[in-house]
Amino acid sequence: MSKSLAPPATIAFIGLGMMGKPMASRLIGAGYTLRVYDQSQQAMSDFVGANPGAIATASAKACAQGADALVTMLPDGKIVRRALLDGADAAAEGLSKEAILVDMSSSAPVGTVELSRDLAARGLSMIDAPVSGGVRRAIDGSLAIIAGGTAEHVERCKPLLQSMGKTVFHTGAIGAGHAVKALNNYLSATSLLSMCEAMIVGEKFGVDPGMLVDVFNNSSGMSNSTQVKGRQFIVPRNYAAGFTMALMAKDLRTASDLADQLGVEVPTMTEMADIWARAAEKVGMAADHTAIHKFLEGK
Ligand code: NAD
Repeated sequence: MSKSLAPPATIAFIGLGMMGKPMASRLIGAGYTLRVYDQSQQAMSDFVGANPGAIATASAKACAQGADALVTMLPDGKIVRRALLDGADAAAEGLSKEAILVDMSSSAPVGTVELSRDLAARGLSMIDAPVSGGVRRAIDGSLAIIAGGTAEHVERCKPLLQSMGKTVFHTGAIGAGHAVKALNNYLSATSLLSMCEAMIVGEKFGVDPGMLVDVFNNSSGMSNSTQVKGRQFIVPRNYAAGFTMALMAKDLRTASDLADQLGVEVPTMTEMADIWARAAEKVGMAADHTAIHKFLEGK
């Protein structure tokens, strides 16, 4: 019988970046025992400084030791795989067979299915549970969590997931969370790019960009992009939403690779993946994804 994942269970958390930091903080707040690891010493000391209960560890393996669940919040699935399986200090070397891996990164679904198979060969289990909502909703614990895996595994992880998110969807077998997340970000990237193009055209005609966003928000053009990115990051041109170009370009590539792997023709998705890849090259991988506006302006 697996141990409950309700607090004060011990959670290992690897990846204390823009999203990992506030998500791991919520686990401390919920009463979990938290072990953390990030390859960046700065990220670790910032986190432990702000969350005195957290236990800093020296490697992925050390972090995983004694944990009831291991959460990964890393840039992509290849990095998750390396953190789990590569070398003597990899997390799988320290993880107990009763523990479960919860990959909350936006990883590629086919790689997730392979990772799950390789972990199963070592007696280890996992679910994928990527998130949507960005830094703001990671801070207030209202993320949408999109889980894939067996019903039993997802159910077992619910107390943990509900400490970080408001809605937990179980979208199917292992990898289904990652597939749906990539498709969601395709919609998000497309609406952001469309809004930016519309603003560039409207402004050129002499309409105030803030006015344009206000009209969209009260009309049929309204979307998450017009509501939480237009006035906030595009009109003031501060480009500071907290999600990088590199990560958005990766998500679009994930979605379009999935379509290719399934033999489905999706011309807009393919085009979007290409435009965002070019934009990331031009404005820089570390730039915020809202800088797609700057790219479209030709700056
Ligand atoms: P980030 O780049 O801010 O953070 C990643 C962290 O992982 C960094 O602190 C880095 O030092 C650490 N790291 C990288 N490789 C490592 C390794 N091998 N071992 C240990 N630590 C390692 O990224 P983020 O914005 O927090 O995003 C994390 C994941 O969540 C990504 O898959 C992203 O696509 C997804 N996501 C991000 C957002 C957002 O708004 N930022 C929203 C939803 C989903």
